[in-house]
Amino acid sequence: MKTRSIRRIIASQKVNMGGHIIEQPLPNKFMDQLDPFLLVHHAEWELKGNQRQQEVGIGGHPHRGFSPVTFVFQGDVRHQDSFGNDMVVKAGGTQWMHAGKGITHSERPSKELAAKGGMQEIIQFWVNTPAKYKMEKPYYLPLEAKDSPTIKAEGYHMQVVAGEYQGLKGPAKTFSPMLLLRGEIEANATLEVEIPTHYNTLMYLLDGKLRVNENTANKKDLLWFNNDGETIQISANETTRFILLAGEPIGEEVTSYGPFVMNTQTEIMEALRDAQMGKMGVLIENFD
Ligand code: MN
Repeated sequence: MKTRSIRRIIASQKVNMGGHIIEQPLPNKFMDQLDPFLLVHHAEWELKGNQRQQEVGIGGHPHRGFSPVTFVFQGDVRHQDSFGNDMVVKAGGTQWMHAGKGITHSERPSKELAAKGGMQEIIQFWVNTPAKYKMEKPYYLPLEAKDSPTIKAEGYHMQVVAGEYQGLKGPAKTFSPMLLLRGEIEANATLEVEIPTHYNTLMYLLDGKLRVNENTANKKDLLWFNNDGETIQISANETTRFILLAGEPIGEEVTSYGPFVMNTQTEIMEALRDAQMGKMGVLIENFD
């Protein structure tokens, strides 16, 4: 089988999100998006403790037209939304949401984590939705670590969150074909990943150092692959945690503004109006 070549290895940019410095692999100076993936943020910080939940994290805000997805690596994330969902997803788990025609949610550490303090590490990425499904009813899918099947092999393990890999099926419901993996490879181990050639593919390293198809990638690098082969060859110089996002391109115009991702400017104006009119729901958070 032919090995995919790497188009570019891109170091993350640090960005300021409400006073917190986080890593932003995507978008970057080379690409606004890699259809269907719109944004990737990696945040890792230590909560100092003795705080109330309302003092930390992100309060109520609306979304429309795509899926914001959060992989939790350390600590936890509490999600509350305008449909009454209220759930804490812990390390190893994934929070999947399809914003559809509109939902208002908050994303904060749990009450316990805010009070006791400790590390919180997450990756949030945005997956676009084809136009004909953008106005579907929203849904929220909290996943514990055990809900995503895990491939355990000599020297590495990988969770299948969406799509199918080696006969294992990820639990997330997507509106276009994709394969979403999160994994860890030990120093000196090797791994070959098969991905359909026409899937646009990104890989991001949370830490560590890898050789990928004869190129070296370091922690917080984003690897952007060409669509010219079926496999990726990985060998680890250091123990490395990574995510792999691969998906069939949707091939539609993308117009985004803040928390909304639509096809046209008119639809963005409608989203702003609908959010202001309360059509994306109202969230009164519970801090018990
Ligand atoms: Mn959000």
